[in-house]
Amino acid sequence: MIERKPSNTEDEYFAREDAERIRKLHAEEQVRLKQSEKDALKKLHTGRCSNCGALMVPEKVGDVRLLHCPACGGAFLDKTAWDYIRTHAEPHTVMGAILNWFKSANKP
Ligand SMILES: [Zn+2]
Repeated sequence: MIERKPSNTEDEYFAREDAERIRKLHAEEQVRLKQSEKDALKKLHTGRCSNCGALMVPEKVGDVRLLHCPACGGAFLDKTAWDYIRTHAEPHTVMGAILNWFKSANKP
């Protein structure tokens, strides 16, 4: 599913506000959770879709290995795959635009 592209500056502002709020919740949760709780969450979720919880299937797309969810069609990139795409993306492509967004969104 392709989400509707924000149509104007106001939509983009609210999308960014949501992302910022979720990032803040993530940081707070990382401080709050005990290591044993983090370990339990990892054991429960590893290899499962973050969207629907189904067991994901490894697939190779070009040079990139990813996990694909046969239930909802989503996909997951681990850090190695993400770093590969980030270093090989051509500028001025859709992927390039997404990567630029992530770069600006992940600034501390
Ligand atoms: Zn899924």
